[in-house]
Amino acid sequence: MSKFDLSTAKFATLCVHGSGGVDPLTGAVSVPIYQSSTFAFKSAKQGAAIFAGEEEGYFYTRLGNPTQAALEREMAFLEGGEAALCFASGMGAISGVILALCRSGDNLVSSDTVYGGTHNLYKETLPMWNIQTREVNATDLTKVESAIDEKTRLLFIETPANPTLSIIDISGCAEICKKHNIPLVIDNTFATPYLQRPIEMGANIIIHSATKYIGGHGDTIAGLVVGKKDFVDNLRAKILRDLGAVISPLNAWLLLRGLKTLPVRMDRHCANAFEVAKFLAFHPKINWVKYPGLSTHPQYQLASRQMKKFGGMITFEVKGGRPAGEKLMNSVGLITLAVSLGDCDSLIEHPASMTHSTYNAQELEEVGISEGLIRLSVGLEDPSDITTDLKLALKKI
Ligand SMILES: *Cc1c(COP(=O)(O)O)cnc(C)c1O
Repeated sequence: MSKFDLSTAKFATLCVHGSGGVDPLTGAVSVPIYQSSTFAFKSAKQGAAIFAGEEEGYFYTRLGNPTQAALEREMAFLEGGEAALCFASGMGAISGVILALCRSGDNLVSSDTVYGGTHNLYKETLPMWNIQTREVNATDLTKVESAIDEKTRLLFIETPANPTLSIIDISGCAEICKKHNIPLVIDNTFATPYLQRPIEMGANIIIHSATKYIGGHGDTIAGLVVGKKDFVDNLRAKILRDLGAVISPLNAWLLLRGLKTLPVRMDRHCANAFEVAKFLAFHPKINWVKYPGLSTHPQYQLASRQMKKFGGMITFEVKGGRPAGEKLMNSVGLITLAVSLGDCDSLIEHPASMTHSTYNAQELEEVGISEGLIRLSVGLEDPSDITTDLKLALKKI
């Protein structure tokens, strides 16, 4: 065995080797899929000891599974956190973290442009348990701070935000959280740990919809949480045990496979998105384009400071607003008209009527999701084919 110390390894190396290496039992190079719900005890005494938490060991997949554990080890490495926990979906992870931190009568403060499902959790479901959410424009840190009171249990932000691609100052939010002694929770789905390292900027809890770039192939729904070991242990032993949003071993394995190529894919997503953003920016039928890597983005400087590169997501509006945008979505041939993002395939959608239809008309206007806003997840195709597809579709408008 080599004496290579993985804790000193670079990001791309951790993506390939961080899950723990060759299986000692069989020599399998790929982590086996332990598709088993239950695990045998060597004796009744051992079973009791494992249940009592006196002895380490697997016993039931809702509370732990070796394939899941390999993914958790790797994600903790990649985010630079102490521990990680898998969930059945991004929403399972988000609701799990909030329910772990809030009791009836508490509140949380959140950035106002978040994933549509997260907004619906704030608006419809959490109030059923008397947990209120104060959604603020978090690009203005004074608004964030003034929304916090003695009942606030966390600050939740999404940056780059879905779908406005607004950038929120992570270090600035971390300072505010420190002052008020509450955790900073970040949905890092759009950036991935390769492009943005929130823990190094003072964030406490990282959440991913691993359905997107972590899986990367449009074939898995999953979520991940990274944080301090005591928080993650408690999340596993209480929230995950009792609410049960558990990932399947097969889905954990698909994410492990996705992670091996994460930096390679992200480099290409970023390069392709930059090409597509430039193409749209100079097209006469386009009203505006928003991409954090364009110097015209209002927070280009902040994005350059806190991100390694600018991601694979673009939003834009066609001249003629929603009807023209619908025409474009119906006219593309290579790009797929579908929600979700971060896949190999380029995906296009209309947030106001699809992913963000949980926002009412007034909310959409307040947070800057215009009726004509189109969201494009730039895939891994040859960039010239993506721009050709857009060029031909724009001709039809
Ligand atoms: C998709 C998404 C979610 C929800 O994740 P699921 O895996 O669909 O449950 C949360 N946050 C962001 C930013 C997302 O894009």
